[in-house]
Amino acid sequence: MSIRLYNTLTRSKQAFRPGDPSRVTMYVCGPTVYNYAHIGNARPAVVFDLLYRLLRSRYQNVVYARNITDIDDKIIKAAAASGEPIDALTARFTDIYRRDMAALGVLPPDLEPRATDHMDEMVAMIEALLDGGHAYLAEGHVLFDVTSHPAYGELSGRSLDDMEAGARVEVEDYKRNPGDFVLWKPSTADQPGWDSPWGRGRPGWHIECSAMSAKHLGATIDIHGGGRDLVFPHHENELAQSVCVHRQPFVRYWVHNGFLTVDRDKMSKSEGNTLTVHELLEQFPGEVLRLVLMSAHYRQPLDWSDAALQQARERLNRMYLSLRELDEVELDEPEIDAPVDLREALEDDLNTPKALGLLATYVNRANSATDPDERRRLKAGLLGAGRLLGLLGHEPEAWLKAGAGRQRVDAEVVEALIAERTRARRAADFDQADRIRDQLNEMGVIIEDGAGETRWRIAT
Ligand code: AMP
Ligand code: ZN
Repeated sequence: MSIRLYNTLTRSKQAFRPGDPSRVTMYVCGPTVYNYAHIGNARPAVVFDLLYRLLRSRYQNVVYARNITDIDDKIIKAAAASGEPIDALTARFTDIYRRDMAALGVLPPDLEPRATDHMDEMVAMIEALLDGGHAYLAEGHVLFDVTSHPAYGELSGRSLDDMEAGARVEVEDYKRNPGDFVLWKPSTADQPGWDSPWGRGRPGWHIECSAMSAKHLGATIDIHGGGRDLVFPHHENELAQSVCVHRQPFVRYWVHNGFLTVDRDKMSKSEGNTLTVHELLEQFPGEVLRLVLMSAHYRQPLDWSDAALQQARERLNRMYLSLRELDEVELDEPEIDAPVDLREALEDDLNTPKALGLLATYVNRANSATDPDERRRLKAGLLGAGRLLGLLGHEPEAWLKAGAGRQRVDAEVVEALIAERTRARRAADFDQADRIRDQLNEMGVIIEDGAGETRWRIAT
């Protein structure tokens, strides 16, 4: 079976057929780097990381680009508010974003183009749009004329008439049509700017992605992704510009993730209900956050809650406990492979709820398997599934002892207490042994007395 993906453009699930199977290309709109990413922003990073892993397991050469938007009015405002130079601010938050995503098990993309490194490409595209009659100059701005592209609106399903009717009253009067959008705008002396044929200024947001994807991946790309809110206007506009310049299809499969909500409200800076990845990582291991993000199908809304976090933590613990019990099985690298049914679930438009349900059944099977061949198969399948999903990357023993944030314990202290308890038991001082066990339990440590040794782990 081939990979199937829901394509926003055709509004249907389709078999994935790359233009060139020897070079599969994917572009995902990345962060605007002026503050910490919230967990909603992490959803597309994790969803497309999963797709990237899946594609890499099928195709030899996958080129994944996720850009960094390092010029934007929000960045200019944030830098002015903090007094920090713009490039220092964007470099700092780029770094934080990379570290946060790595903690969520997100592989670095192959390319991470930055908008400010692509001014020449953007200017060239805008010139081509002007030459082709798709753009016009007005009060120092260059604007895209949406009426010049009859297919405009095809991605989001909006017609120009709808847009006109829905346009807010404060449409700038230099625009010919309410839907026209900025390709280039003038900068004042205190704003960052680049020289261009239209004076010193800066690009609009949409042109960045059109220019960077064309430069690095080619004029037609296989997959373009992002959150659902980007369908309109961002992706609609990218599509219009790219097609008008290159005169060939821009994207074969448009893939969009649904929103992460809190108490059913969209998580966003304007709602003031954001939880940053950075803060969450102080309380939970990244793998727990990743598992919550994969617990709903990517196109469905996902409601963030403490209960979901707790459940994910317990689920992962069960998996690691099971792997610890399979410790005696030593695998050769090529044996590690995801079970076919789990792979098929993921290849069916990334059905993670189904894949995670299957993972739980392998864990149950592993817990009761006694036959060495079956134990071997199950461990190979569990680790293979983990690799495809970006989970189970830790040594079971280390995971079970690690905890996060408030849960973290000092392993040396725990080991010393266990040794003391063992001595007390040997001396038949059971009161003292019980007291030490209680003390460990209070620290959130569970101990298990086995034949000859006492093992321990963090309680969930
Ligand atoms: P932004 O930094 O706002 O441009 O967002 C970066 C990425 O996060 C985009 O792909 C957005 O669509 C996505 N995004 C923003 N908020 C959410 C949310 N609450 N749930 C899911 N995706 C989101
Ligand atoms: Zn974009």
